[in-house]
Amino acid sequence: MRILVVEDEPKTSAYLRKGLTEQGYVVDSAADGLDGLHLATTGNYDLVLLDVMLPGIDGWSVLQGVRQLHPTPILFLSALADVDDRVKGLRLGADDYLAKPFAFSELLARVQNILRRGPVQRETFLKVADVLLDPIKRRVTRAGDVVELTVKEYALLEYLMRHAGEMCSRTLIAENVWDMNFDSDTNVVDVAIRRLRAKIDDPYPLKLIHTVRGVGYVFEARTP
Ligand code: CA
Repeated sequence: MRILVVEDEPKTSAYLRKGLTEQGYVVDSAADGLDGLHLATTGNYDLVLLDVMLPGIDGWSVLQGVRQLHPTPILFLSALADVDDRVKGLRLGADDYLAKPFAFSELLARVQNILRRGPVQRETFLKVADVLLDPIKRRVTRAGDVVELTVKEYALLEYLMRHAGEMCSRTLIAENVWDMNFDSDTNVVDVAIRRLRAKIDDPYPLKLIHTVRGVGYVFEARTP
């Protein structure tokens, strides 16, 4: 198993290298973002340990750069105890994070966990007819046109596409997209569907959102 350590503090880098080598891993290291990105995208690593605050380009940019090309698992190390930063890292496609300072035993447990999962199966695009949804970039296109959606419209579309061809009741949609129970007021769902339709269906001849009267919606391409 080969691990790349991208960390600019020599002490931390040496500590990680020593500890991981003792555990039988083959360790390479990079001391700045550019080197890290280069090695991570050209070397064949089973895991990248990535510090966030790096000279050159920061860890977020390295993470994005690697993610565009490789499914290599990434564990990021952040001195920033901020929840927003952790969320940001995970959103950008990191597999896990560890806040500094950390105990080596915890780092090792997380490394082993990630490696145990084996080669990563990256989620691919969702596709229904000519609608493409990229769950990582949260980007939607129809017939090649980028469709700009609000956060809720996107969540609604993703839910419908994940259940393409199935009956999605208003109640289920409300629970899954709004994370709450709309006892009677599922009007919220209808309003959101109307907005989504205006963007994703109205400009195109083939309609994908179908109303099931009194119940909910089905997202599918129906042959006329
Ligand atoms: Ca650093």
